[in-house]
Amino acid sequence: MSKYKSYKTTCSYCGVGCGIIAKKDPKGVITVEGDKDHPVNRGMLCTKGMNLHHVVQDKSDRILYPEMRWSKGHERQKVSWDQAMNRAAAVFRTMIDKYGPDSVGFYVSGQCLTEEYYLVNKLAKGFIGTNNVDTNSRLCMSSAVVGYKQALGEDSVPISYQDIELADCFMIAGANPAWCHPILFRRIEAHKEKNPDTKIIVVDPRRTQSCDIADLHLQILPGTDVVLYNAIAKRLIDKRKIDKSFIANHTDNFEALKASLQDTSLSEAAKICGISVVDIKKAASLISNAKGFITLWAMGLNQSSIGVNKNNALLNLSLLTGHIGKPGSGPFSLTGQPNAMGGREVGGMANLLAAHKDLANETHRTEVANFWGGKEISPKPGLTATEMFDALESGKLKAVWIICTNPLVSLPNANKVEKALKNAKFVIVQDISYRSETTEYADLLLPAAGWVEKEGTMTNSERRITHLNKVIDPPGEAQADAEILWNFARKMGYHGFDYNSVEEVYKEHCALTKGTNIDVSGLSYSRLKGEGSFQWPVPTNNHPGTSRLFLDKKFYTDTGNAKFVIPRFTKPTSELLTEKHPLILTTGRVRDQWHTRTKTGKVNRLLTHIPDPYLEMNQVDAFLRELKDGDVAVVESKRGKVQVKIKVSDSINRGVVFLPMHWGKVLGNDFGRANNLTTSIVDPISKEPDFKFSAVQVSKY
Ligand code: SF4
Repeated sequence: MSKYKSYKTTCSYCGVGCGIIAKKDPKGVITVEGDKDHPVNRGMLCTKGMNLHHVVQDKSDRILYPEMRWSKGHERQKVSWDQAMNRAAAVFRTMIDKYGPDSVGFYVSGQCLTEEYYLVNKLAKGFIGTNNVDTNSRLCMSSAVVGYKQALGEDSVPISYQDIELADCFMIAGANPAWCHPILFRRIEAHKEKNPDTKIIVVDPRRTQSCDIADLHLQILPGTDVVLYNAIAKRLIDKRKIDKSFIANHTDNFEALKASLQDTSLSEAAKICGISVVDIKKAASLISNAKGFITLWAMGLNQSSIGVNKNNALLNLSLLTGHIGKPGSGPFSLTGQPNAMGGREVGGMANLLAAHKDLANETHRTEVANFWGGKEISPKPGLTATEMFDALESGKLKAVWIICTNPLVSLPNANKVEKALKNAKFVIVQDISYRSETTEYADLLLPAAGWVEKEGTMTNSERRITHLNKVIDPPGEAQADAEILWNFARKMGYHGFDYNSVEEVYKEHCALTKGTNIDVSGLSYSRLKGEGSFQWPVPTNNHPGTSRLFLDKKFYTDTGNAKFVIPRFTKPTSELLTEKHPLILTTGRVRDQWHTRTKTGKVNRLLTHIPDPYLEMNQVDAFLRELKDGDVAVVESKRGKVQVKIKVSDSINRGVVFLPMHWGKVLGNDFGRANNLTTSIVDPISKEPDFKFSAVQVSKY
């Protein structure tokens, strides 16, 4: 018999959601390998996933016990859990009594497990009486959420990874899956190797590694996506390469879209986008010849001042060609975080309700409030991620509870975030690691359990729910996040938090979804543990899960039809370039780092790829500034500056520079903290920040 005990779990990094087998030896040492039986990755793992055990083994950075300070001027001291929870409850009660429930807020994470997300929402929306619960998924998926809702009637990804092997044309837009969703990309790559006629179009202002397999790279100017997708749509309509029957029978608003597309000619569009008319026509031709057409997109579309418009414009291409609701076809947003989708299922945003119910709908609010047995739910949307930190800075929000995220590095305009945290009356940080720079500002620091140290579920990019086993105990006095939250709720005197296990929380969440579009009332822990992962909806105990939505061409809108939403590109809403700040800064990920490096930054093997931040810059822009490859330069925007080494490249257009988003205040200075530079502008509907377009200047250090 093997001396190892094996446990099934899921990778804690990106939204691909690869299955992992964690093996524990008799001494408790963990190793990991890809789960060969998992339908997503079939045993494969990327470098981040295969090195997860190093993150678990190294406890040197872990927060081991609660710490508290009595006032801002004092150092934090070790306290008991009881003292910590009493203080948290006392502060929250005082703030709520004195300033009302909207004076407190929770800022959580797409890395939280679904059960944890559920509890925060229930606690805040159902019992405290505030909708001030937002998440770092606001920085990632909120534009896609609005796009899906407007076009399909629901925040719902229609397809599965298994559709990859059935498609013959992919449009990868504003995404670099070769680095950011590597196992998904391997599947596309392998599919193209086997089927060389498969066509791949990449839309990206940079020539990234994903372009290596592209038949066509549309290297557009940042922010011009809507013009491009509208131009392709116009070409498809003009050439009658659209699915007339699908449009006539299953969509609304086609004529209005068609009329709106007449505003811009192909040559005007090409000029705005910085590409050729020939390439626009080629893209349209590749799409029109496809039997199975999949669009894949990520932050290049979502993180924009017109992120919702970009989503609408891309979704229109799937609707025009009828490539939705059939195998091998459909729109497919790539989730950045492992459980951004699970968080939304339980209402993990300031404008959402649990079970995809609508915060603006009185009946829905009453249903959820009655189910929870707490207070009436306020119809007023809560503060979104950036609004929450603005409100801390202005003093409107008094206390914030930050769970499993590092806003000091990940939010735009980091210097403003720093001011907000300094100005907050009370900051609770619940995390696993002192490597999160945000811990510095905690008045109360709560040690949380990490990956494999707690149980729960997550939902990946294709609506697949997986159960994550607890494999080892957390170190020191760290507790599972769910336990911390229900203990706090009990200290507040709230009923309905008498859970004995996370499974009970999960059951409650599933029961609330009954009868909704995301019904998982037929999916128990025992099914997840025994039968493996399932894609929602799973409405009955013997339901096999749902690989594809809309096969019956019935959409979740009021009319049952999908809707063409008209994405307009009028005046620029991003930050304006000026003589002082003439370059467009765009930020993003590198292959082996994850978010703010609290985990990947401590794994030596992952540091061999790209150990330090760098600014990618076109050779002409570098020459004009007398900068050579490897020189240190100063990058400056209206909001701040950083020093960083230059990487001179012909993969990026003139006028655009790229800085990875991962680095914080390394080495005690601002070397490479990209968000010192980024703008606070957000999309007016999704409130997602415009990370891909900030005006900067670069000069010699
Ligand atoms: Fe983890 Fe994503 Fe890599 Fe899969 S592709 S192993 S989910 S980081």
